[in-house]
Amino acid sequence: MARRRTTLLALAGLTTGLVAAGGPGAAVAQEPAPEKVPLAVGTGGAVATVDPDATRVGLQVLAAGGNAADAAVAAAAALGVTEPYSAGIGGGGFFVYYDAATGEVSTIDGRETAPLAMGADAFLDADGTPLDFQEAVQSGLSVGTPGTPLTWDRALEEFGTLSLGEALQGGIGLADEGFVVDETFRQQTADNEAKFRRFAPTAELFLPGGQLPEVGSVLRNPDLADTYRLLADQGLEPFYAGGLADDIVATVQDPPEAPGAEQVRPGLLERADLARYDAPLRAPTQVAYRGLQVYGMAPPSSGGSTVGEALDVLEQFPLGSLPDVPLLHSYLEAAALSFADRNRYVGDPAYTPVPLAELLSDDFAAERACAIDPAAALPKPVEAGVPDGEYGPCPAEGAATGAGGAEGPSTTHLTVADAEGNVASYTLTIEQTGGSGITVPGRGFILNNELTDFTFAPADPTVPEPNLPAPGKRPRSSMAPTIVLRDGAPVLALGSPGGSTIITTVLQTLVNRVDRGMDLGAAIAAPRASQRNSPTTDAEPAFLALYGEQLQALGHRFTETAEIGAATGVEFLPGGLLLAAAEPERRGGGSAGVVHELPGVPDLAPDLGADG
Ligand code: GLU
Repeated sequence: MARRRTTLLALAGLTTGLVAAGGPGAAVAQEPAPEKVPLAVGTGGAVATVDPDATRVGLQVLAAGGNAADAAVAAAAALGVTEPYSAGIGGGGFFVYYDAATGEVSTIDGRETAPLAMGADAFLDADGTPLDFQEAVQSGLSVGTPGTPLTWDRALEEFGTLSLGEALQGGIGLADEGFVVDETFRQQTADNEAKFRRFAPTAELFLPGGQLPEVGSVLRNPDLADTYRLLADQGLEPFYAGGLADDIVATVQDPPEAPGAEQVRPGLLERADLARYDAPLRAPTQVAYRGLQVYGMAPPSSGGSTVGEALDVLEQFPLGSLPDVPLLHSYLEAAALSFADRNRYVGDPAYTPVPLAELLSDDFAAERACAIDPAAALPKPVEAGVPDGEYGPCPAEGAATGAGGAEGPSTTHLTVADAEGNVASYTLTIEQTGGSGITVPGRGFILNNELTDFTFAPADPTVPEPNLPAPGKRPRSSMAPTIVLRDGAPVLALGSPGGSTIITTVLQTLVNRVDRGMDLGAAIAAPRASQRNSPTTDAEPAFLALYGEQLQALGHRFTETAEIGAATGVEFLPGGLLLAAAEPERRGGGSAGVVHELPGVPDLAPDLGADG
């Protein structure tokens, strides 16, 4: 349903206020980076992203009369400029939307797809051993058909009031005029320097003059501005069927290695893959949790099903009346059980039957909850449950199911609400920070490495693996853009980057807010732990300092990890107020804003759970 209500010609004038420099790369000018505010309360609409420029662009769209879908797409396009290592038109994502006019939650599946030429053995060597992960990442082989351009177009068409061209204006301004390099951006570039040096157009763009960009310098991306302008003028045809499609295919099939750099594996993407790409609308996942309705992303993401199953399990326990340690013990155990089921049963539903209704049924959750011993942590990994509709006494413990390794801070999540009560919860990514490392020459964006989210080889050949590569298949994701309603009205929305830790970050933040009574800002800031059915639980130092000893006494084992996730969220407070919240510290901190700010709001954490 197209609803063109607003034409925001004013958006054509969106600029950054920076002085334009000549040519790509970093100008010499030293500029202060825009201020990052992690919490804002007010009216007129709210935006929370990881980046102040993107938040500003989103707020400008809202202030000019655009709705949450318009602002989310505009902010995402801005992130394609300022967070090019996490997000952009070379990648994919999942867009979850609450439409205030209909009261419905819808989702757009903008996940990348495998080329038609990709078989189950794509990530195996000639001798059948799985490829080295980084060798697969930094290659044409990892590049799936990008879904982000079509996601933006579909989001605007279905829910928005702006044209794609209008929504891209803020991003075009930022790409033309540049953004100020901050410490986080410089560090991310440094972390990826070796990868970026392998590919000539990437080194040229992000290592200006052969050097890391300096903090305070202004980085421009005129090629991306031109690419956005092309989409603004001609729509998606160039990207999925025209000259841009030709360039993407040529780049994937023959990656542009720098002179002297080692050759990487070519990819399998062809024009037909781009031409047939679709970003379908899917029904959201839904679970009830303490009187709230929690909506998430259905497969091929495991976000909605795993967060949902864990909440169903946790609902069996009176978390609101438990002290921190037993509450966190239940949280870690519920996460492990849900991850066992996720690993065993969730993949692209077009290729593998996903028992979604059973995974999210209260009876299955009750059976799974039987396994949790309040006095002792389960040995991990735990065995997957059997979501077959027949639930009796607790299943016996059994053999291991594999689980993921370390997860970096890639990807980005943005949350937007407008004055009418529409909500967008949107997670987008190019997979690893810096994606495949391959920039499409002359086009200004990096291609994803999303296909390395496929399982390279089954952990146990006797157990069906739902996430092997196949022609046209979408790799399983962990992205978990979430919207929470009460009695059909929006209460809050959130999401995070962080690979498979996304699921536990969203889950823990919900538990912090609903059961522990923290306000959304505190719920996001609180120290995290992530149990994903691995022998040890990843935990931040502050989490270990507070709870490590007592949880270890219950049998939990931890691996200290510097930081987990970088969430953003929006909450609807009583009295028509909106709260925007972003990370205060992790990943350099995020940026929250509202259209009309109100200082001094007394209660940021009204009771949410009916029986929490
Ligand atoms: N590719 C990951 C997924 O879809 C997200 C990347 C990340 O956040 O590290 O689950």
